[in-house]
Amino acid sequence: MRRLTRLWRRSIQVRVVTSTVALSTLFIGATGWALIADVADSLAATRRDAAAGEVRLAIASAQSELDATVEATPAAQVQVLNSLVDSVTDTEGDAGYELVLEGPLGADDVPVRSSLALSRGSVPAALRRTVVERDGTYAAFSRVAALGSDESHPAVVVGSRLHAPRTGDTYALFYLFSMADQERALTLVKQALVLGGGAAILMVSGISFLVSRQVLNPVRMARRIAERYAKGELDSRMAVHGEDDIARLSTSFNAMAASLQSQITRLEQLSILQQRFVSDVSHELRTPLTTVQMAGGLLFEARDRFDPVTARSAELLKTELDRFEDLLVNLLDLSRFDAGAAHLELDQVDLVEMAKEFADDDWNATGLDVTVLGADEPAIVEADRRRVQRILRNLITNAAKYSGSDRLELEVGQVDDRVSLVVRDFGRGITDEEARHVFDRFWRADPARAEGGTGLGLAISREDAHLHGGGLRVYSRPGEGTEFILTLPRVPFAEGGPAVDQPAVRPVFE
Ligand code: ADP
Repeated sequence: MRRLTRLWRRSIQVRVVTSTVALSTLFIGATGWALIADVADSLAATRRDAAAGEVRLAIASAQSELDATVEATPAAQVQVLNSLVDSVTDTEGDAGYELVLEGPLGADDVPVRSSLALSRGSVPAALRRTVVERDGTYAAFSRVAALGSDESHPAVVVGSRLHAPRTGDTYALFYLFSMADQERALTLVKQALVLGGGAAILMVSGISFLVSRQVLNPVRMARRIAERYAKGELDSRMAVHGEDDIARLSTSFNAMAASLQSQITRLEQLSILQQRFVSDVSHELRTPLTTVQMAGGLLFEARDRFDPVTARSAELLKTELDRFEDLLVNLLDLSRFDAGAAHLELDQVDLVEMAKEFADDDWNATGLDVTVLGADEPAIVEADRRRVQRILRNLITNAAKYSGSDRLELEVGQVDDRVSLVVRDFGRGITDEEARHVFDRFWRADPARAEGGTGLGLAISREDAHLHGGGLRVYSRPGEGTEFILTLPRVPFAEGGPAVDQPAVRPVFE
């Protein structure tokens, strides 16, 4: 069932063919039904009128035969009527009708004589009442069955009264004309309609299938080409045949693809130029910076001998030169990421062990009180040790610099395919708006702060995490604290699957 609904939702062709078949079935069914009703009505009416005409003549002749017996005995009169019925019996159905004679009327138990033993109800009660009560010829439709037989067939029953002049008795005479021929004709019409209708529906569904395929094939091709394009095959184009609407669509599609391709190529070249510019500038600046740093270092060493203002300048020079160096190193790193030139040097890394090392005093020069959680079993991932250390160092120094917290939790959590490492402080926290930007390049919550870094640390950490096929997320509550969760897959880019970003631990500040 689910597959069918999926097919219905996804395939325009299935929808077009199904609705065409449904609508044409409805239309053909309704027309056929109306046609059959019409044919049945006119067949019945024709038969009834013909039968009524025939009966009027027959009744007139029977009445004149009866009238002729005015001088005869009552028994002779009954004899005339009986022989009328018997003559029909003798033809064994060849007369085209059966006869039912009821009478003399008036008595409680009216004698009935019929040319064939018929089941009760063959003469409709309403018709009998009318004929018994009034003069004239009346007709009605009924189903007639021989007595004891289950098989019945439609018939038109025409009845009229007869008056016996000698005794003054009244008789009702009914003629039952079979309508089996009309029924057969109607069956034939029905069969022809079912066959014709079925063929028409088949033809319509075939046509709608072919037409929708003709229209949809190019659309499907456009979809395939667009998918390939999205995957980066920018040379993909649609085939153009003829000059119809589809061909024009393909041409426009191709023009769009070509324009996009040239824009993308232009942007790519621009971006390559930009990357090269950043990396060249950073490289070029390094040499003079080293010289300036050396000179600055010397001034810094000798600051005790300067007057206080010059000594302070020497200190400022040193800090700003260090920051400058950081900036250059970070810029070079980022340009390497942008150029796709960053590579992993893989190693078996135990994140529990690494967290413990960072918690150690030797590593932890931040003065924070660090607790390690979730350290009961090793958490091994295949990763680039240097990069993971860099992420962790950055997160811990950030917490020390910006959070205002005096304690820090490092929590390791693991599931089948990934390991998460949480760096959680209990400091000032950041707002949702700030959280949206922390990973942006050069973004700093408070750029005016002197001890601030370059605003590139978290951007680089996230690139490092992505390089592993992992992720770095932030959760925070202002006034309560902030946690950064690094999640790494056990194996980088496991089976080419999507990046593993969902943390393996529950965030506290979610
Ligand atoms: P940098 O440290 O070089 O300024 P980052 O990218 O490492 O750059 O950090 C960006 C900004 O995010 C910081 O300037 C700081 O305002 C904010 N930030 C980072 N970590 C925390 C934290 N633990 N608590 C509060 N703010 C933080």
